[in-house]
Amino acid sequence: MIEWLLQVKAISPLALHAERGPAQFARTLLYIPGSSLRGALADVYLKTGTQDTDFQRLFLADVCLFPDLYPSDGIGESAPLPATARACKRFKLKHPESLSDALLPLRFLSDDARKSWESCPNAACKSKNVRDRIEGFRVENDTQRVIKPHTRTVAGTSILRATQTAASGQLFSHTVVEEGARFSGRIRMADETLANKLRDLLRKAPLRVGYGRTRGMGLLEIEDLDESPPARLPDLPERLDKFNAVIGQIESATGRYAALTLESDVLLRDELLRPVTTIEDGSALGLKGAALERAFVVPALAHGWNAALGLPKPDTPGLGRGSVFLFKLNDVTAEAQLAAMETDGIGERRAEGFGRVRVCDPFHYKVFEGGQ
Ligand SMILES: [Zn+2]
Repeated sequence: MIEWLLQVKAISPLALHAERGPAQFARTLLYIPGSSLRGALADVYLKTGTQDTDFQRLFLADVCLFPDLYPSDGIGESAPLPATARACKRFKLKHPESLSDALLPLRFLSDDARKSWESCPNAACKSKNVRDRIEGFRVENDTQRVIKPHTRTVAGTSILRATQTAASGQLFSHTVVEEGARFSGRIRMADETLANKLRDLLRKAPLRVGYGRTRGMGLLEIEDLDESPPARLPDLPERLDKFNAVIGQIESATGRYAALTLESDVLLRDELLRPVTTIEDGSALGLKGAALERAFVVPALAHGWNAALGLPKPDTPGLGRGSVFLFKLNDVTAEAQLAAMETDGIGERRAEGFGRVRVCDPFHYKVFEGGQ
């Protein structure tokens, strides 16, 4: 598997509409979906070529997996904060020591210990404010920092074609991510022969994503393409060992545990082909020999656009990025299954960034190393 780290910068405002259809106030996503990146590159390809076999393999054969591009500071990569992330309810990360993770406390701490963990540890807050859910994207090389692109609201009005004047009562506005915002993500390819083709395409940037592309919005420039980026996480056996060592410090727990954290939205179907929106045991994820202990599910609704038909894809419910599942591993093969899920991804539409997962993300245990 080839993995490239792509860094892009917005050189005009980005309107990546979070909801489909006309809305008076259209919100923007704060990340660039993999489907938008794939669509932008396909557009560049078709400007100079045709739908030949290379096009088919790059964009239609699921050989090349385009990532969601998450906000970055141009130095570190970011990841969604898991649903278990907690910080001071009142002061958020102005009390940086309050940033913690609830997965292990909720499962393993005694009632008293959990109560004391729930209080913000800042001296000004102690016992007055509790830790509460915090959302966003965290910079991975600096666990105390959450990154949020700047946005602004742009107002517009419909134009009456007959008179070329503003249509009465048809004011609308949308939020946009401001120019200068940076994003990054890792493209995965199983096929080496496609790499040259893709490299050429990326050189032909700027790419165009989102709404208003014909009016100069949504322009992305490629800042960097690292073709052999360093590993993002420690090796899986090391993470599993540390995760379990921390659990062992909290409680003399028997057995081995693993956390599965969704890095992007995951689209799965059950045996009756219904979308999976919650997990009751490991089998829904294709994981055997593991008992589900805790689930923190973020709801998600996947949109999409079928460019060939010029029609929207049906909205599909799924499991949202940041969802966390804690498993007790009963079978020796479960660890190998988890490793395969992390490498290959799970579920549908992986070429558009869906289905990326992490096993024992250090975020869940880092704050407790040392047995606090
Ligand atoms: Zn506080």
